[in-house]
Amino acid sequence: MRVPFRNEPFTDFSVTDHIQDFQEALRKVESELGREYMLKIGPDRIETVTKRKSINPSQVNQLVGVVSQADTALAHTAILAASAAFEHWKRVPPAARAKVLYKAAALLRRRKHEFSAWLVFEAGKSWVEADADTAEAIDFLEFYGREMERLAEPQPLVSITGEDNELVYIPLGVGIIIPPWNFPLAIMAGMTMAAVVAGNAVVLKPASATSVVAAKFVELLDEAGLPDGVVNFLPGAGTEIGDFLVEHPLTRFVCFTGSREIGLRIYEKASLAQPDQKWLKRVIAEMGGKDTIIVDEDADLDLAADAITASAFGYAGQKCSACSRAVVHELVYDEVIEKVVERTMKLRLGKAHEEHTDVGPVIDERAYISILKYIEVGRGEGVIVHGGKTGDSSGYFIEPTIVKDVEPYARVAQEEIFGPVLAFIKAANFDAALDIANNTEYGLTGAVISRNRLRLEQAREQFHVGNLYFNRKCTGALVGVHPFGGFNMSGTDSKAGGRDYLLLFTQAKVVSERL
Ligand code: GLU
Repeated sequence: MRVPFRNEPFTDFSVTDHIQDFQEALRKVESELGREYMLKIGPDRIETVTKRKSINPSQVNQLVGVVSQADTALAHTAILAASAAFEHWKRVPPAARAKVLYKAAALLRRRKHEFSAWLVFEAGKSWVEADADTAEAIDFLEFYGREMERLAEPQPLVSITGEDNELVYIPLGVGIIIPPWNFPLAIMAGMTMAAVVAGNAVVLKPASATSVVAAKFVELLDEAGLPDGVVNFLPGAGTEIGDFLVEHPLTRFVCFTGSREIGLRIYEKASLAQPDQKWLKRVIAEMGGKDTIIVDEDADLDLAADAITASAFGYAGQKCSACSRAVVHELVYDEVIEKVVERTMKLRLGKAHEEHTDVGPVIDERAYISILKYIEVGRGEGVIVHGGKTGDSSGYFIEPTIVKDVEPYARVAQEEIFGPVLAFIKAANFDAALDIANNTEYGLTGAVISRNRLRLEQAREQFHVGNLYFNRKCTGALVGVHPFGGFNMSGTDSKAGGRDYLLLFTQAKVVSERL
């Protein structure tokens, strides 16, 4: 019997040995920066003429790696390779497929700090955030392996005399995996390996900003014994190969995490049947949020301030689960702002590889410019009570920024900023706070800080988000514990890290035999 799933523990960075181990991993990875990474299609490593430089957002003159970029011809080759591999991979027994995930998890666990160090350099994650990303990747591998074994067990059906009936979950076919840059290891590995363990073969188009982390993971899959062609590694510009991959007639499903804009485009393109296409394409999309923490009049205000600060500024607010709106009862509004400002002042903005950094850079120049524009919008829509400026010019640093007195329908209260910008909105009472919380087109995460049982129960029913938290932060969902995914424009209501997730990568076949 396999041991039951347990979440991978986080590293305790107050322990000197752990600090030293992590520093050693950072040094090792730093000595490997700047290398070249190729595509992997079937068994072949392919170098292309067009290459993209991946840089360290904490220090933009530092090259993390140089990554070959696919064009549509190579995208076509990759889909054909996946299609060929699918024919044998789908016949590999589910338990054997799961073993590849367990092996990959073991390898990742052994090289945990090394992978986290890559996340520090390429994604600008602080040590703690990088460590959590790697732990979550391990969790996805262990969890989905077990889930596939569970789905492969005989499924319960009502019995009928004179017949033998069976329902099995079979894979779909070729999948296109388009993960985000903000969890370059965890979400990328989770999306890819959920598809793979279910018996599909995929083309993985990594996020351009974090392709090196994905390349490292693909190397690890080779080591874990995954047959060639099951995961084809296809870095490339979304504008160049994105539509082609989605529209290809051999594509059976697309699994995407990223912006609302791209998610909608994929949904639309995938819905059109191409000549020679034999199926309706399935789209699994996770598309962002505009998440709210409500603070009630009787709440523990220190707890509220801790929850808001952590949810708003962890990884510089670059999580679709991040709290970008604090909706606070008017009786405690000023006090909560004061406490959040107090805590935010203590956050250290700095280079991600430095031990004591709390808030690192934002991912790239585009994000930097866009977030700074939103700060200007915020300046016109409210009062900036903290931050608002840039940091050290060697990287994309933006101070954690707090804007108060924002109206519920202001742009900074409605649009996903994906950066360290928090809006405070005053509510006259709890009902009004709930109305404000539900007034965006998203519905991903939310939290309520209250001591009042009736209000918590009211929120349980009326706060329309996929992941609702009481008296805690609204980020940091744990695999298996908090299946993660949202409503409305936040996506297709899928729940990563939950018991329903693998079903999205399968179809059920029923065989009835007359006895
Ligand atoms: N699952 C992450 C969390 O709970 C967020 C994922 C995302 O930002 O895409 O914080």
